[in-house]
Amino acid sequence: MPGLVDFHYHTALGKGYSDHLPLWEYLQTCWYPIIRALDPEAAYWAALASYSESIKCGVTAVNDMYRQLESLADAAEKIGIRAVLANDVATDEHELDTLADNERAFKAKHGAANGRIKVVVGIEWLPLASEQLLRDARALANQLGTGIHIHLNESLGEVESSKQKFGRRPTEVAYDCGVLGPDCVAAHCVWLSDTEIALMRETRTHISHNPSSNAKLGNGIARLPEMLAAGINVGLGHDAAECNNSRDMFEVMKFASLIHRAARVDASLQQAPDVLRMATRNGAKGLGIDAGELSPGKKADVVIINTQNQMFTPLMPGNKDHVYSHLVFAANGSCVETVIIDGRVVYKEREFTMIDEREVLEQANLAFRRVLDRMNVPAARAVRRE
Ligand SMILES: [Zn+2]
Repeated sequence: MPGLVDFHYHTALGKGYSDHLPLWEYLQTCWYPIIRALDPEAAYWAALASYSESIKCGVTAVNDMYRQLESLADAAEKIGIRAVLANDVATDEHELDTLADNERAFKAKHGAANGRIKVVVGIEWLPLASEQLLRDARALANQLGTGIHIHLNESLGEVESSKQKFGRRPTEVAYDCGVLGPDCVAAHCVWLSDTEIALMRETRTHISHNPSSNAKLGNGIARLPEMLAAGINVGLGHDAAECNNSRDMFEVMKFASLIHRAARVDASLQQAPDVLRMATRNGAKGLGIDAGELSPGKKADVVIINTQNQMFTPLMPGNKDHVYSHLVFAANGSCVETVIIDGRVVYKEREFTMIDEREVLEQANLAFRRVLDRMNVPAARAVRRE
């Protein structure tokens, strides 16, 4: 099958930490302190740990918004994955990344590894942005000839904050500042009004639907059927291991169907071939990658699935729909046997060809402890609700 495209991604260092918190508190308690304490080496090992789990689950391309992009690019080059990288840009007082950081990363790494690595402009989200920053982000993207990756309308709290801060809903602000467009991937979009869906459609903005992250953080259920009916290109993402906690896109595919069927009491929604298309072709299209389908002339981003197991039994010979059904509803990442990215075998019969997997896991564990020490937070704190 074509490789899966994880359309909204963050390399992750921590996981299973502050798992009980809603989005806003989670960001303040966990996510921002960790990424502020991140050093280049920790980012490198975190990226290798993240990308290796993704490859094992059949992912060939990630749309990764994180920090220390040079380290991420080195990790992507080493393991062989295709990566679109964006900084976590916010206004200065939040001590995350700046547009200058993003521009530096673009100049250093855009087009590296035989074009497998691209750099786009990343905006964290509107509570940490100003209208001027959004306009500047669009100007920089245009100047560099690259795209934009942004979180929009993820939670009700974000929408309320936007109304108070800007007098408008998040996607309306992004539209007014020129952020939206056919080179923009907007993540989440859980709470879109009809007007905002129309703005996404008008600007041909791509949306990453991340149903399992949205469910875990208690953010709600995106209006996927309405987005698709409007003709918006929607791909699928796991978001981040901190808020998922799995990078298995088979699991995300199943969520992307079941959550809507349950919420609307309608078993006809999100049928397997449509879900697979979102996880492959739609994501590739949104990232400008000439892949996502198995046909001559496309990039060789290919996954070999082992069907000799219970997940794919029974299997009607020659019946594609039966295979699609198993892939979306029955399988998980453990069915992935071999992964080929850009024509190169990076994972062969369940073994990595480019990295020492055990070393990656050890170093990622050490990096997390180092970052926690720097944050001055005991590792045992904040793991469960008191
Ligand atoms: Zn995200």
